[in-house]
Amino acid sequence: MAINMTFPTSKINQLATEYAEKAPRDIINFALQQFDNIGISFSGAEDVVLIDMATKAAKKLGKAVQVFTLDTGRLHPETCQFIEKVRKHYDIRIEVMYPDKEKLEAFVAANGLFSFYDNDHHDCCGIRKIEPLKRKLLTLDAWITGQRRDQSPDTRNEVPVMELDGTFSTKDKPLSKFNPLANWSSEEVWQYIRMFDVPYNSLHDRGFISIGCEPCTRPVGPNQHEREGRWWWEEATAKECGLHRGNIIAKTSD
Ligand code: SF4
Repeated sequence: MAINMTFPTSKINQLATEYAEKAPRDIINFALQQFDNIGISFSGAEDVVLIDMATKAAKKLGKAVQVFTLDTGRLHPETCQFIEKVRKHYDIRIEVMYPDKEKLEAFVAANGLFSFYDNDHHDCCGIRKIEPLKRKLLTLDAWITGQRRDQSPDTRNEVPVMELDGTFSTKDKPLSKFNPLANWSSEEVWQYIRMFDVPYNSLHDRGFISIGCEPCTRPVGPNQHEREGRWWWEEATAKECGLHRGNIIAKTSD
């Protein structure tokens, strides 16, 4: 079996077409079969279904699941508690990535703790999310994300089930990216959570659908799209933190 491999772009595009309509668990199974050094990015929200599916698939394959999360220092306490709950529930190791202390201290000293309300959120996200993510991704051959097309009609409606990561691949180290939930709706995710009794973040019971940092996330009302609860003071097309910057680039280069 080929492991720790990275597909050439042409191959991954072909596989994305082949797997486009497959179930998330088939895509996860395929990803885990192809890569040993693959990590699941866990946001502490409904992407917990990835962990549920991956732990089941990994057990059959006799592999361990690698999970990491980004602690920005601004998460809701409920999200931190949920991450811990998931760690214990699945008996897995969750690697918590933190921002670079010196860069963060310098940024806060210069801009304060709520600069994202006055400027835009990208500088804060850059230090608290992107830099730690980049550090982690440099150690991996592939990663799995919980991106879904229905999460954002403006930036995610063309997300493929697998791709060569156009943002975090380097010249020397291509990085494959799997988005097994790309085709699923929010409703399908929640059907899975209920059907398999998957633990979930208690914020969902309080009207939060999309969950991010506490100052930048709020519950949404009836008929509001989930992304309207994130960075609500900004234009819809800016509502990516940079973790999936390729979505914006692809969209704006149309
Ligand atoms: S979501 Fe808000 S608090 Fe969190 S890193 Fe981005 S700007 Fe900063």
